[in-house]
Formats: sequence, structure tokens, C-alpha cells
Amino acid sequence: MVWYSAIPSGNWRKPINLNLHCTLHGELRVPFAQHVSLPDTPSSNASFPQFTLLPLELQLKVIYYCDQSTLFQLIHTSSFIRAEASKLFFSNPEVFYWINAKWLLEGAYPGYTVHDLNFMMRVEHLVIEFSWMKEDTWMDPAERTAWNYIDKVLTTGMLGNIRKFWSMVQLRFPRLKRVTISDDYDRSGLYWKVGEMGPTDIKVFVALRQGGDKYPYRRLERRLWQRMVTSQADTHTDTKLQWEKRPPWCEPLITMPYRRLHGLVGKFQDFYIRQDHWYGQDQSIRIFKIAAVEKYHFDGRHCSFRCSVQDCNTVFQQPEEYTTHAIDTRHDEMHPLPESFKHLFAKNDKRHEQLKEDLSKRRKHILEQCGSEGSSQRQAAMKEIMHQLENNALLSAQGKSASEHKWWDIIDSFLYPRDG
Ligand SMILES: [Zn+2]
Repeated sequence: MVWYSAIPSGNWRKPINLNLHCTLHGELRVPFAQHVSLPDTPSSNASFPQFTLLPLELQLKVIYYCDQSTLFQLIHTSSFIRAEASKLFFSNPEVFYWINAKWLLEGAYPGYTVHDLNFMMRVEHLVIEFSWMKEDTWMDPAERTAWNYIDKVLTTGMLGNIRKFWSMVQLRFPRLKRVTISDDYDRSGLYWKVGEMGPTDIKVFVALRQGGDKYPYRRLERRLWQRMVTSQADTHTDTKLQWEKRPPWCEPLITMPYRRLHGLVGKFQDFYIRQDHWYGQDQSIRIFKIAAVEKYHFDGRHCSFRCSVQDCNTVFQQPEEYTTHAIDTRHDEMHPLPESFKHLFAKNDKRHEQLKEDLSKRRKHILEQCGSEGSSQRQAAMKEIMHQLENNALLSAQGKSASEHKWWDIIDSFLYPRDG
């Protein structure tokens, strides 16, 4: 279920890109491949071998003006260009990658992520997404029944887990310069406490969505605060912290690249990545349909219009009013698409259907490869999976046996579906 309540204002002005994904609340996510894809121009395959013959200073000047896609291509060239392009690529202040907090809270095991750990090592700007952080997120199980919700004092276990969380952040993202902890709701003052315990040499932000507390389907607004650290004049260790409100940030976040996948486990992981892409794109279609209606009436002109749902009669005089109305009422589901956008969405529907068929073929192929239940082929496949989970360094999960591994459960539900 997607609520679309946090579609950022101004979203309708952005280009329609049906390859993007969206979150449960309607914020867009850019798959890494999209982020670094070169514009589809006839010259995109042209080579320029003379570039490396230019004086180094000139090469640097040229690189400085390159966009993210070109910089990423340059990272794969000569060592000198690679170093400079890489520096510029990761330090771009407008590019933010995101990661799910769950992975960090679970211990940040290499085997529990499909994203590229080497890439993470170079990320400078990161958003860590929590799924409804609350006190329980940090408590040791034994503390959950005894904790006093009135005093709200952090327990030893909570403090220890918050420290562990930050050490995982620093272990996997050692070059971080800026981190934002983010959630879908303004649920708890705990964010300040978690933020305050973050390393002082990193800029720490907290991003929460507010406005939906009383009526959860109403449009939410993202708000952002920055942790300000000031050292006392007489000592380096005694620091003062406060939170300052910053202008809302609403740029799409980039999903980090995936690592190379290997063996039979890799086939399952590849399937789930593709399936996530499919769902992500499927969920973002509605956002772009809403944007298309706004674009048609307000992009380069100003044509007020009426909701087409019978007996509604709401009139939209300004941009954003239709988006807000759509979120509150879902009337956009009955609103016709402007004629000029119909072809684009119809073409996408066809592409999307093909992707679904491709997924189904891949599922079938994996099932065939693993044999039927009880067969010797299935036994051999399970043995291979078990061996890979226990011995492949990229799948390591701190000494967990194969049957304790997260991917064992996922693969098990794939091969032995409980719902028939
Ligand atoms: Zn309406």
C-alpha cells in the first residue's frame, strides 16, 4: 500500500521519468543506473583519445565541468583522471545516496546487502532511512517491558545500541561528510538524541515529515534540522549541541549501485532486485500521472480546471492544488490523462507488462534449475546454496550458519511458497 502523502511540492515541474521508483509515501528514488546514464545522443559513443594528451591542468578544468554521468565514465579511465573524477563525483553537494537503517541496525553484514560495499566506502553524502524509529528500535529485548515511557530516560542498552549504530555507519561509510537521518513521521524526540550522539566531525541532519499526525492521508511536508556543534573556548572535549531548522530538502535520492552477484544465490538476488525495480516503477506511475495533469494546465501557461469526479467540483486555480486534492481524495484515479501524455503512459504500460513477463520467465527458470521438491536436483541446489552462504566472503554474516542467514529464509520462501 502506497499513500503518496509526501509527494514533494514542485514535483510536477520535473521531467517525467518512468524509470524512477517511489517510496511508501510518494518520494522518488533514482536507481544508480539512471543516475549515471548518459543522455541518448548520437555522439554518446564517440571516443576522444586526445583528451589524455592535454596538459593535466586543462584535463582538470574540463573534468570540473562534467556532469555525474560523464564523471562516472571517467572513473573508469586512466589513474590520474580516475582519482580526480572520483573526487568530484562523490563530493557533489547536490547528490545524496540513501540506505535503509535496518541493515546498519542488524550489524551491517556484507551478506545482508546487495549494494556495493566499495562504493559505500567513498560516499560522502548519505540519507539513512528508518522505518518508523521508536524507542523499541534501540532497546535490548529485556528492557522493553521495564522501560518507563513517561520519564523517557535512555537505558544503558539504548545508549549502547545507538553507539553501535554510529560505529556501523562509520565502518561502512568512512568518508561521510554529511548524514541525514530520516523517517516518514515525526514520531519521537529520539531522533535528536540519536543525532546528538553521531560523530562530531560529520554534519548531521534530521529529516522528518510533518502534517499527517491528525489525518494520515493528508499531504505531508518534509522538514529538516541541522545539528550545530560548538566547542567551548577553554576545552576541546566540552561541546554544545543545538538543532537549527533548514530549508526543506526534496531532491530525489540515489539508490547505490549493486555489487557483482555470484552463483546460485546471486540468481535469487538478481531476481529480487529486478522485482523491486518493477514494484518501484509501478508505484511511481501514479506520481507522474498527477504531475502530467499539473504540467498540462500550468507548465508555461495558467489554465485553471475542475476535478472530473462527479459531485466533487473542486476547482484548481494554482499549481499543487490538484496534487494535494489527489492525495486527500484519490480522485486522480478517475481523472483523465491529458491527450498529449497518453502515448507516453501507454508505451510505458507496454514496457512494464514486458518486464513483468520477463520476471515470470526468470522465476520459472530458477525453479527449473533447482528441480522439483524432493528431487535430487533440489537437494543438490540446496547444498550449493548452503555452501555459498557459508563460504563466500561477500555473503558473510558474522559466523551465521546458512540456516540462520537472511538469504536462506528468502530463498526458502521462494522455493517453498507457503501460500501455495
Ligand atoms: Zn475531486
